[in-house]
Amino acid sequence: MTTTHDVVNPATEETVRTIDLVGVEETDEAVARAVEVGPAWRALAPADRGRLLRRFSDVVGDHVEELARLEVANSGHTIGNARWEAGNVRDVLAYYSAAPERLFGRQIPVGGGIDLTFKEPLGVVSVIVPWNFPMPIAGWGFAPALAAGNTVVLKPAELTPLTAMRLAELALEAGIPEGVFTVLPGKGSVVGERFVTHPDVRKVCFTGSTAVGQGIMRGAADQLKRVTLELGGKSANIVFADADLEAAAAAAPMSFLDNAGQDCCARTRILVQRGVLDDFMGLFESAMREVRVGDPGDEDTQMGPLVSDRQRATVRGFVEESQEPVDVAFRGTAPEGAGYWYPPTVVLPRSTSDRVWQDEVFGPVVGVMPFDDEADAVAKANDTAYGLSGSIWTRDVGRAIRVSRGVEAGNLSVNSHSSVRYSTPFGGFKSSGIGRELGPDALDAFTEVKNIFISTEN
Ligand code: NAD
Repeated sequence: MTTTHDVVNPATEETVRTIDLVGVEETDEAVARAVEVGPAWRALAPADRGRLLRRFSDVVGDHVEELARLEVANSGHTIGNARWEAGNVRDVLAYYSAAPERLFGRQIPVGGGIDLTFKEPLGVVSVIVPWNFPMPIAGWGFAPALAAGNTVVLKPAELTPLTAMRLAELALEAGIPEGVFTVLPGKGSVVGERFVTHPDVRKVCFTGSTAVGQGIMRGAADQLKRVTLELGGKSANIVFADADLEAAAAAAPMSFLDNAGQDCCARTRILVQRGVLDDFMGLFESAMREVRVGDPGDEDTQMGPLVSDRQRATVRGFVEESQEPVDVAFRGTAPEGAGYWYPPTVVLPRSTSDRVWQDEVFGPVVGVMPFDDEADAVAKANDTAYGLSGSIWTRDVGRAIRVSRGVEAGNLSVNSHSSVRYSTPFGGFKSSGIGRELGPDALDAFTEVKNIFISTEN
């Protein structure tokens, strides 16, 4: 029996398309095909595999606008963000198209012969994608995996499958052979779990919630299957008294409102040095008033709706419907009527143990709390299970480095809120994950090192 899923536009609540969901049998067929075509894919001359990936990048580049419009309809992303996201897939493919010819091993000095290392592909790699950034997160998995000579099966999130399905068509159009890259829209509990249990799937590259990631790691242990886990976040934005306060306040709104706060790197805990707290809050409130929330298809919109009614209910559970008291400092506005809207909201937690301060809200909600000195700032920033990113605002270069080194997170940004560049590593400390994506070393996550000794004495 085929099950279907209605893909809904989060800004209008209208059905965009109904898709058939893939089951275990079709997943097994796709894995079998990926096994079958693997040897030919890895045997391609490195320059030829690079050329195919470059062509894939070009074809994605030719379809940026189409992919972006599809993401606006499927995910409610603003058109500006969605164009960046499609462009990111193009750029990540272009970056890793250079990798097949640079997958260097080593020659290691030994006695009696020559010792060489090779980076061998793993075989079939699975990629499991969440709904918050359907295109980039797919690309961070499939582009380096394919470049390293693996074949890929990819499962998009139930809510947001359309752009990944289109990317699979564009791959074929670019000449990537059938079966090398297959997109399987289906349920996590069906397709995702099958990736974990299928003996021919050699790796699970997972991005999503910490709870599901933990389950995947437990399941992968049975076969010692490789995993990369990119999980949740609760990142700190630390503003010191010596910072350019106007710049820090001007940048603060979009550091947690981008993608309506559904961003694992969202800076959802603002820590402000006590002496400048009032000044910062005044500037921050003015900056928040400037944020344009509305139709994600409009060029000027900065924040759209949440992805689903369920996600909105989760966010309300942290604020209006919270069991513990939550003090709201101020709010922005959001449209009313159809669509999963939620206004930008700034809260003042009473304690560092408050749920809204500790747990990932994954919506446009930020907490603000004062700190006393550098040590207090680092302690408060680290007082969370997560460790994905963070920001430090100060004019003191030494302090910027000290605090960046002190915060237990994978991606720190000074006087800015940058997290992701395709040419630099990305990933989390602590409960935010295991492994790194992007940058020059991502290929290590999709290869095994093989050592070969050749005797010169026989
Ligand atoms: P989720 O964990 O519910 O789902 C993620 C993916 O896993 C989906 O494709 C889902 O179908 C699949 N899945 C669900 N159950 C599964 C199972 N038992 N076995 C295998 N696969 C299963 O997360 P979500 O709600 O889609 O995404 C939001 C979460 O993702 C947030 O916690 C966010 O912080 C995190 N995230 C992390 C990063 C990062 O890079 N660190 C990036 C984006 C999102």
